[in-house]
Amino acid sequence: MPSEVSSHDDAPPLRVTLLGTGTSTGIPVIGCDCRVCTSADPRDDRTRTACLVEAGPLRFVIDTGPDFRRQALREDLHRLDAALFTHHHFDHIVGLDDLRPFFHENDAPMPCFAHPRTVQLFRRKFPHIFGEHRYPGAAHLALREVNGAFEIGSRYEDDCETAAPVRAEPVRLWHGDLPTLGYRIGRFAYLTDTNRIPDESVEQLAGRVDTLVIDALRREAHPTHLCFEEAIEAARRISARTTYFVHMTHSVMHAETEDELPDDVHLGYDGLSFEIGG
Ligand SMILES: [Zn+2]
Ligand SMILES: [Zn+2]
Repeated sequence: MPSEVSSHDDAPPLRVTLLGTGTSTGIPVIGCDCRVCTSADPRDDRTRTACLVEAGPLRFVIDTGPDFRRQALREDLHRLDAALFTHHHFDHIVGLDDLRPFFHENDAPMPCFAHPRTVQLFRRKFPHIFGEHRYPGAAHLALREVNGAFEIGSRYEDDCETAAPVRAEPVRLWHGDLPTLGYRIGRFAYLTDTNRIPDESVEQLAGRVDTLVIDALRREAHPTHLCFEEAIEAARRISARTTYFVHMTHSVMHAETEDELPDDVHLGYDGLSFEIGG
């Protein structure tokens, strides 16, 4: 293995929290009386898929969907250094405006890393944030097109000395006809909203991932999301040690499904937190 690749694996210990694990409707689905939507198991209550990554004092989220505000309150999130985006579907971006409170005490710009197509859409859909004349009080976000690996640093002056920047690597994926981005940070990989992982992306990850979070909509096949069987196969090709499914529909009952999965594969649930490395 080339030394430049192995040096990239010198990643700090990470703590990852699954902020949301549900498909675009959220679970329960409005008006649905099915057994999952009415389940008393809190793990069957799934807000829209997103995650929080902490590396020492550094904190960043991957996607800010419509439940971002609730998720941030639930996790008692006081500070945020950056936001990474997987793609522009609304269940992953409409919480953008709820980043405003992170600027009340610190107006340093927050980088938003995204695919160039997502950046274009952000400029069009959120002119009050990204237009020439930012609306007073709008979040101070700085768009960063992702074309290769990048570093995430601290927005907080008091952290600068102790918060070493973290390197993130985009992972190219397909979500139907839409290119989406997964991310690898150290030995963690986050691949949501995909039905096809190109061979180059599998090679990029193979043997380098301890914990994989992956799109697994339901048991049955779907045109733009991986189903369980496909997600397990992808985890095998990547040789992830532990895999968590996210973006599930209301056809998935947590307790009974968890029992059916291989020992190294689990259903994610909102608030689940785990450590990687260190
Ligand atoms: Zn989605
Ligand atoms: Zn339902």
